[in-house]
Amino acid sequence: MNIASLHNYFLQSSGVSTDTRKISKNCMFFALKGENFNGNLFAQEALDKGAFKVIVDEESFHKNTGETILVENVLLTLQQLARFHRESLKLPILSLTGSNGKTTSKELVNAVLSKKFNTVATQGNLNNHIGVPLTLLAMNKETEIGIVEMGANHLGEIKMLSEIAEPDYGYITNFGKAHLEGFGSLDGVVQGKTELYQYLKKHNKKIFVNAEDVKQLEKSEGIERITFGTKNNDFDIQLIDSSHQLLVAFNGTQIQSNLVGLYNFANLSAAIAIGAFFKVPTEKIKAGIESYIPTNNRSQLITKGTNTILMDAYNANPTSMMAALENFKQAKGNNKIMFLGDMFELGANAETEHQNIVNFLVENPFGKVYLTGSNFLKTTNKSSHIKQFEDFDELKKTLENNPPKAATILIKASRGMAMERILDII
Ligand code: ATP
Ligand code: MG
Repeated sequence: MNIASLHNYFLQSSGVSTDTRKISKNCMFFALKGENFNGNLFAQEALDKGAFKVIVDEESFHKNTGETILVENVLLTLQQLARFHRESLKLPILSLTGSNGKTTSKELVNAVLSKKFNTVATQGNLNNHIGVPLTLLAMNKETEIGIVEMGANHLGEIKMLSEIAEPDYGYITNFGKAHLEGFGSLDGVVQGKTELYQYLKKHNKKIFVNAEDVKQLEKSEGIERITFGTKNNDFDIQLIDSSHQLLVAFNGTQIQSNLVGLYNFANLSAAIAIGAFFKVPTEKIKAGIESYIPTNNRSQLITKGTNTILMDAYNANPTSMMAALENFKQAKGNNKIMFLGDMFELGANAETEHQNIVNFLVENPFGKVYLTGSNFLKTTNKSSHIKQFEDFDELKKTLENNPPKAATILIKASRGMAMERILDII
């Protein structure tokens, strides 16, 4: 079946589904395969639940009833359909990538742009080779701007996603030490993320650049760019207060965010600049930013009993860990405690990167430190203010006997550590 005919079916359907547990009547079900599942096995269930068409890639699941469509590869077909659909929609698309802060920036940008436009943005963290097509297929003729988060853990991924989404604008949040396993090194990360710049340059499109970030300025040279920062840029934004949730100012208007962590200044600035570029009135930019409340243990400020907690347990990598520690070093409070867990996906760099964090904590003794996980356990540490635990259960035992009181607490680790469980103990 050619893609144009498939697209015709798509336009008659209620949308795309890849999960029979969340199927909607009259949808197109794409039977994707993963490491642990084969969507083809659910083709009949999808039809029973009211799917309009079912796209399969195994002949044994193909029924000649007109409802099942047999293709070479369901994933490729989904991607081709998304690209075809995107080309049929003449709307601007903004793509965001980077090592840290993509989702936060995307949510903030959407909060701002949706005050003026009918937007479609990536749902949650659906930013990969499946999520990007699904995001594009959620757009329709009424959509005025699309906001697409793009994630990658190896070279070539952002190039591939850009060729599907064909963005008109791009923003790279930062270049950090994330997914070192797949990218090999920080240079690899930079190369991977700048695939977005290469795409935009080739097609004479525009980028938003954080002018406070030297690396971003350097890498965006020669592309039409819109800059933001604190002074002498297309859009200037000031940081007024970062002791609690960040307070910023733009165009003489103060904007009170709900985000903690100095690193969020860049995310906020990007959202404000992008809103201003698309001529969202300052009052609406303010309303958009102020309405955004972080979820998912990202940059949240929580009060529990006598403790104040900076909850950042959503994820961690060496760059975001250092950013969080630098920020926490400045935070107020005379009883500071850090609960830090292992950082994953570092490959051969794991040992050095964990040791770097410990060295920083030894040189900067601004609070008690509880390290959890086998990577942190392997580090060398001769400071009495730093304690190491093999796993969460071991940490739990210590905390239950000696819970923190009247403390300012930072919780940060990779997702797999699920360090937000500390909230159940303290
Ligand atoms: P993922 O790779 O999971 O999609 P992401 O890039 O979407 O991550 P967020 O979910 O927005 O990132 O934020 C994850 C964590 O990264 C935050 O909780 C915070 O610790 C850190 N972070 C957020 N923004 C920045 C930034 N601009 N610079 C450095 N670290 C940041
Ligand atoms: Mg994300």
